[in-house]
Amino acid sequence: MNPIARYLELRERIDAESARLTAVHGDNIVCRPGCTGCCVNFTVFPVEFFTILREMERDGLKPHETPFDTAATCGFLHEGLCRIYRYRPIICRTHGLPILYLDDAGGTLKWEVSFCELNFTGPGPFEFTDDTLLDIEALNTELYLINRDLVASLHDKKYHENSRIELKDICQKPEEK
Ligand code: SF4
Repeated sequence: MNPIARYLELRERIDAESARLTAVHGDNIVCRPGCTGCCVNFTVFPVEFFTILREMERDGLKPHETPFDTAATCGFLHEGLCRIYRYRPIICRTHGLPILYLDDAGGTLKWEVSFCELNFTGPGPFEFTDDTLLDIEALNTELYLINRDLVASLHDKKYHENSRIELKDICQKPEEK
């Protein structure tokens, strides 16, 4: 499979896993339309950036005409909703969920759990297991490898495997990209 197809397959899996975890955690997850607590201006790998552009164009949209609010925490927010929700990157698809991640603060790697502070506010204690957490390290590794293959396949050597692109650059005119 080419890197874009692999990216889309990963994204589909993440959507399914997010839906499963949201159901598993029930009332402890209060994420809903209008809540924008996790929304900030993100950077993304080229594979995400070009997939988002391609999908928007496929749907007849002109990405460079997407309004971008420089005063908002994420410029794609409009009245509490995401203007590019359907195309949003993978990180936005994991907002609010309890995630398992490696913390390297203090020079020692430690597994930690993190989630949006608006969730899990009821009486605890909350027990998390491998089956009720999203392993963000595994996800990021998979995404990194897919992106690495995409970058290696590009004739234009403008990007390397750690390149990040500001998501807001989808609003640039084609000749500026
Ligand atoms: S792209 Fe959409 S979902 Fe992601 S941070 Fe911005 S407004 Fe939120």
